[in-house]
Amino acid sequence: MKGWIKMNNNTIEMPVLALRGITIFPGMMMHFDVKRPRSVAALEEAMKRDQRLFLAAQKMAQVEEPDPASDLYMDGNVTKIKQMIKLPSGIVRVLAEGVSRGRMVETFDDEPFLYADIETPEADTIMEASPEKEALVGAALDVVDGFFAINPNFSKEASIAIHAAKEVGALADAIGFHLISAIENKQSILANQEPVSRLKLAIKILHSEIEIARLKNEINSQVKVNIDQNQKEYYLREQLKVIQSELGDVQEMMDEADEYDERAKKLNASKEVKEKLAKEIKRFRRISPSSAEGAVARNYIETLLEIPWKKKTKESLDIKKAQEILDRDHYGLEKLKERVIEHLAVRQLSKGTDSPILCLVGPPGTGKTSVAQSIAKALNRKYVRISLGGVRDEAEIRGHRRTYIGAMPGRLVSALRQADTANPLILLDELDKMSSDFRGDPGAAMLEVLDSEQNSKFRDHYVEVPVDLSDVLFIATANDVRTIPSPLLDRLEMIPIHSYTENEKLHIAKEYLVDKQLEKHGMTADQFKISDKALSTVINCYTKEAGVRNLERRLGELCRKAAKEVLMNNKKRVQVGENNLKKYLGIPLYRTSELPEAPQVGIARGLAWTSVGGDTLSIEVNVMDGKGQFEITGQIGDVMKESAKAAISYIRSKADELDVPDDFYKTKDIHIHIPEGAVPKDGPSAGITMATAMISALSGVPVCHEVAMTGEITLRGRVLPIGGLKEKLLAAKRLGIKKVLVPCDNERDVEKISKEITSGLEIVYVQSMDDVMPHALVKEGEEK
Ligand code: ADP
Repeated sequence: MKGWIKMNNNTIEMPVLALRGITIFPGMMMHFDVKRPRSVAALEEAMKRDQRLFLAAQKMAQVEEPDPASDLYMDGNVTKIKQMIKLPSGIVRVLAEGVSRGRMVETFDDEPFLYADIETPEADTIMEASPEKEALVGAALDVVDGFFAINPNFSKEASIAIHAAKEVGALADAIGFHLISAIENKQSILANQEPVSRLKLAIKILHSEIEIARLKNEINSQVKVNIDQNQKEYYLREQLKVIQSELGDVQEMMDEADEYDERAKKLNASKEVKEKLAKEIKRFRRISPSSAEGAVARNYIETLLEIPWKKKTKESLDIKKAQEILDRDHYGLEKLKERVIEHLAVRQLSKGTDSPILCLVGPPGTGKTSVAQSIAKALNRKYVRISLGGVRDEAEIRGHRRTYIGAMPGRLVSALRQADTANPLILLDELDKMSSDFRGDPGAAMLEVLDSEQNSKFRDHYVEVPVDLSDVLFIATANDVRTIPSPLLDRLEMIPIHSYTENEKLHIAKEYLVDKQLEKHGMTADQFKISDKALSTVINCYTKEAGVRNLERRLGELCRKAAKEVLMNNKKRVQVGENNLKKYLGIPLYRTSELPEAPQVGIARGLAWTSVGGDTLSIEVNVMDGKGQFEITGQIGDVMKESAKAAISYIRSKADELDVPDDFYKTKDIHIHIPEGAVPKDGPSAGITMATAMISALSGVPVCHEVAMTGEITLRGRVLPIGGLKEKLLAAKRLGIKKVLVPCDNERDVEKISKEITSGLEIVYVQSMDDVMPHALVKEGEEK
């Protein structure tokens, strides 16, 4: 072993700098930063002297003020300071070069810096080339290579520096400086002065460090593999879940598509329909069943599958039987039944030729719907009703295109699906209540439906393939012909249904409605009896209508009350007569006669036709001194205003004859008012009534209160014919009118009206106002 070289009493006194976490070796250059004041002071002292500084490593890096005796390694390095840069933050950056090993023999702490007496060993002896040296260096480099093998990212300079070391001792130092990581291991290499043993020590330490690093790596990679494995499994499981649910869905969808295919195969439809279906089902297989698109496709396929393309019921062609059924279900309506039977006969004989569509026109509750139902029954056709009231959108008839969200087929295709046969009877109810706006004209679509030339290939926007409507029997209903879209009128054959007379209503009630209501309320004919008189009272005092809908409701009410009585009071039967009617239905809503009791000046009674039946209207005229102004009020239309003006002109031209002041048009103000105008009325037929009321008001002669009249007036006082006579006469009769003035030209119509209506009414035919006056105005001395 070589001894220490002793300088100045075997030691050199030198400032000492405590390094944290770094050990420097002889011949190595390194940068480090200094901040602690004692260290900076030591540095400055070294610079003042010969730039030599002893660097000693701290055992624990975190100690701020190390005690030289216990906290510093005694072995360190004598270094030469090559460079010193003061950085702004008070840090001093130092470049130092290891000169030789050194050991602190004694430390002194009485200056602002630490200094010590340092012993330095002799320089390493140079080992001569020998197999031993070669083996030793080779072994060391093998280990070094081993180190670089497992640390491929380690600095290349380190490898170069180590391989450049020629001597055994320098090689050990290079390994210690560059590769060894633990500070105590570095220190033990530094403390070893003998080159061969130092290199062996370095090899040993490096070996064990490599081993530790390898183990660490292994552990790390195992941990990582564990985590990776877990993540992988989690990910796979998640995927599996998705795949399973998809597979489930897909399976479901495939099952569904198979079922569709099966149904499509069995479907009795044209080739075009089948091809379309096959295409759609194929598409359906490709899209996700739970997506919105899947729902749309499903809907469409089901619509196509449910349309009865060629499925038909066997039509009964027995006309006699049809007649029987119509007779059995409805009282009266002879004309209608006859016309229906004719229509059916022609249809049958002329098979498929263009026959018009029947349109039943009449007030509500007159049996239009129920006649259509009977026709369906008679022909053994399914019955479906499409209510057209309030339909404004063309798409309601023709369907929405499939691209719309929530698109649906139109009403006709829906009706076919509902009927489930291709030859049902479709009732187009309230055809006159259809209107058009910006959403298109449903009337035009309807025209295509009703045209036998086109309806065998009716195109619904939703369905896309043409639907054959030519086997459908259409029947339409309307209340008022005037509001049916005009292009449709051409295709329709109107069959009027009139208001019922009291007698007809009585028969309908007795023979049909009572039984129907009893059945509906679960009662037998034995449990409920109603006298004819009571029925008449119900008709006259509890209802006021053209049809029998309210009458049916009233009878239903009676049945309900009777049922309650039967159960609560243990009654065997309930007998409803005129005297106990009030108990069940309350006080009467209408009086039989609302006629004024005596003739009055300026009030005349007219007759009106409305879509809900006939009505009477009293026209009131007031004449006041004024400037010839004219006013007309009440719920009336333009036509009525014009007839009022015509009447005034007529009166002016005949003022003398009529006993009316000549200058009334200058000196009197005339006000015409039409009360009870809840139902808007219009039409020229109140002309003669307004003229009569005005003449009466101007001349002061009263109008006979039991007279009603209807007729259009011309400027010359001629009376022109009017329509809706049956309804008007019925209304007059209901009110208790005795005499009705009717235009001469309507005589033919009156002849057609049944005796039941005309009996008890004196009908006077008038040709001009001259004929009206004697009957309407009360003659002098006569109080009629
Ligand atoms: P609409 O369609 O003309 O408004 P409905 O057909 O609904 O009238 O008729 C209302 C009710 O009156 C139905 O129960 C119907 O059976 C009955 N009804 C109407 N007219 C007759 C009739 N002539 N004979 C028997 N019942 C009738």
